[in-house]
Amino acid sequence: MNHLIIDPQKDYLLIPGLVWSCIPGEPAGGLAVYISRGAISRVIPASSAYEGSGENMEVINMPEITLMPGLVDCHVHFSMDCENLFQAIDDWENRPQLVEQRVLRAAADYLSAGVVAVRDGSDRNGIGLRTRDNINAGCFPGPLVAATGRAIFRKGSYGDFLGPGITDIDEALDQVSRLKAEDIDQLKVVVSGLVSFREYGNVGPVQFTVPELRKIAETAHGLGISVMAHASSAAAVETCVLAGVDSVEHGYFLETRQLELMARKGTSWVPTLSPLGNLVKTGSLPYEGAVMDVIRRSFETQLLRVKEACEIGVALGIGTDAGANHVFHGSSYHDELGYYLEAGLDTKTVVSLATSVSAKIAGLGDRIGSITPGKQPYLVGIETNPQDTGLSRPGSLKALKNPAWVITPGSCR
Ligand SMILES: [Zn+2]
Repeated sequence: MNHLIIDPQKDYLLIPGLVWSCIPGEPAGGLAVYISRGAISRVIPASSAYEGSGENMEVINMPEITLMPGLVDCHVHFSMDCENLFQAIDDWENRPQLVEQRVLRAAADYLSAGVVAVRDGSDRNGIGLRTRDNINAGCFPGPLVAATGRAIFRKGSYGDFLGPGITDIDEALDQVSRLKAEDIDQLKVVVSGLVSFREYGNVGPVQFTVPELRKIAETAHGLGISVMAHASSAAAVETCVLAGVDSVEHGYFLETRQLELMARKGTSWVPTLSPLGNLVKTGSLPYEGAVMDVIRRSFETQLLRVKEACEIGVALGIGTDAGANHVFHGSSYHDELGYYLEAGLDTKTVVSLATSVSAKIAGLGDRIGSITPGKQPYLVGIETNPQDTGLSRPGSLKALKNPAWVITPGSCR
């Protein structure tokens, strides 16, 4: 993989076989992408590309390549180890160097998987937030990070590794302001518990009433930040949608009624298929018998809902929940895309969700997600036959897996 880091002092002319500027539009040949002062300046006919090109311009020919916006993962946890949450939490306190190494590796793994931007779904130690700042400061290469810092959850309920916890709603509103001062990009709120592996459909109680959650969402919106809400069960999802959160995370066991409500209210859904999907597919786990049946049944229900959501017109964000057991940073993104195909979505729709739609949900829609003037050059180049991107054929997203080029700006703020 070639990682091209765009120097803001230089101009670049990229001349690929095809440019796929706006997905789901069509890729087009005979074009060049002109990058100037760290931003995409123009997409121009390749034949006229050299006119007026100055000395300070680097020209890169990539004839076998389709250049397209990079992939966006709407839900990751840099803080977690993809294996054992309790061990990871212990590591935060007792093995900070190990955590740092893990973060570094995760950041690199995102780039080699073509994932140029991620939204971090919080941890109580602020590791995701620090990772964003360190990447922005140029300490190490990595994707563009939208961070939620620490999450809001009700003390005594699920979520104590994600944030400090609140006891009443005034405390929650205080915490929103404090998190804003810590410079979070979005607010994470925990509204339900985890999906049970033992009892199908059990996800724990709903942590907030609609009026309570509405106050939190309105306070966040008043400070200019969107709200991502961890919620499974029909009741928890409905609470979120009625309260005006921006994206529902996981959403296991939601029903048609909530999907219709989401479509009407413009609430996005990030179904995170990999945590259960990867357990189902791996088959080398301590889970067996009845437990495995619950996991499989929950996963299959989720696939059906994803297809239904697509038909109803709910904006779906691709998010892996990377860091969870068997959900690896970077590579699991391609597992996640595969599950969308398994759910019955076509390749082009999935690539569109993976780029422009997810960029918007992550709050990065004005910066990335298309190759258009003013956007930042977070791009990937995938090897393709110029006659066929390989992505227009049903059932094939393989071309995305190992990008030949990953392009990111030198500094992103
Ligand atoms: Zn998560």
